[in-house]
Amino acid sequence: MQRFFAKVMTLVLVAFVLPVQAANTIKNIRMWPSPDNTRVVFDMAGAPEYSYFSLNQSHPYRLVIDFPSTELNVNLEQLESKSLLLSKIRTSTPKLPGSTRIVLELDKQVDPVIQVLPPQQMHGHRLVVDLPGASLKRDAAALSADDLQERKVTIAIDAGHGGEDPGSIGPSGTYEKDVVLKVARALAKMINDDPGMQAYLIRSDDYYINLNERPRKAERIKADLLVSVHADGFTSPQPRGASIWVLSNRRASTEMGRLLENKERLSDVLGGVPAVENEDNFLNETLISMSMDHAMASGYEAANDVLRELKQITRMHKSKPQHASLAVLTSTAMPSMLVETGFITNPTEEQLLRSNQHQQKLARAIYQGVRSYFMRRPPDGTMFANNRASRHVVRSGESLSILAQRYNTSIAAIKARNNLNSSVIQIGQVLEIPSPE
Ligand SMILES: [Zn+2]
Repeated sequence: MQRFFAKVMTLVLVAFVLPVQAANTIKNIRMWPSPDNTRVVFDMAGAPEYSYFSLNQSHPYRLVIDFPSTELNVNLEQLESKSLLLSKIRTSTPKLPGSTRIVLELDKQVDPVIQVLPPQQMHGHRLVVDLPGASLKRDAAALSADDLQERKVTIAIDAGHGGEDPGSIGPSGTYEKDVVLKVARALAKMINDDPGMQAYLIRSDDYYINLNERPRKAERIKADLLVSVHADGFTSPQPRGASIWVLSNRRASTEMGRLLENKERLSDVLGGVPAVENEDNFLNETLISMSMDHAMASGYEAANDVLRELKQITRMHKSKPQHASLAVLTSTAMPSMLVETGFITNPTEEQLLRSNQHQQKLARAIYQGVRSYFMRRPPDGTMFANNRASRHVVRSGESLSILAQRYNTSIAAIKARNNLNSSVIQIGQVLEIPSPE
């Protein structure tokens, strides 16, 4: 009995003398602002416990997160927020000793979405806080949805991965997400410099977008083509070379089934034509099936055009477009392709992929391929379609003045358009006819 008493006393003393031992640690805090939200990631030593509340009476609005029995091992002074939404992360006095209270100071009232993520690949335990709201300064080089013009062929460019998801990682530590963003930006610049085309970047900075959301973003801006840019990875360093992937038949059928269940998306995909409410869904199915066949056939054809250009500047892993079931290739509203620019896990290709010169070459090849596809198959109502409609093959007895009259333009305009020094034209000569003046 006495011994028991002594034991209890010792325990009480120990508890009194030792500082409260925290069960968990916040090891790092990372922020990923994007055009639609700011993601804040708390890297934890163990599975996080938390509770939170908002203070929205006055500016700055605050989101307060309590981590019970957790210590903070991050210097908040050194955290710099680039988010327009989240101005500051600081601590405040916790209710219980040994706990941590984190305060996020916000420019707007938001409904946060908070989730606990288990360890995965390169990451440990995480608490992920998504704060919805525009968070990224507008990039002057990237077009926003409002800038897009109807007469231009619109290419949606999706730089793979981003933010929390680095994609494949090269032997000297190059992240796929960084390389593909550079290629995507170079490609967007080339496209925007083309008077007949415009580019829309689905990801324009270092943040993550849900895979299923990427093709939806392209559909919403009514893109004529979606190009997703990636770099391959493998468990051994040998494989190398580029490849192009397109929607597989099987995935297409699954998508078609899903679409028929979703009237709202169905109407988007059918180009604003409201989905027909009927019993057997037959008409919808027919419309979608036509639209899907078109998306698949044209995706394959465009992929072939890009492949032809790519193989002139880099080694190919696959000499033909490959079919795959990938979330980013599920649009039935437009053709889409995924370009694997090379294997970042191959040391030689990693170095190539890092070089600005090679990034430019890859972008140029994709641009040329896409352009030749749309020159051949211009979407209705675009400049490419108008240009194509007014090509003329000279026949016997025709002269510049006859053509100028027929096309309601002038001899000078035809000569200028075709760089002609004289007014003599040959039978069989192909002339571009400018739009009526
Ligand atoms: Zn990838």
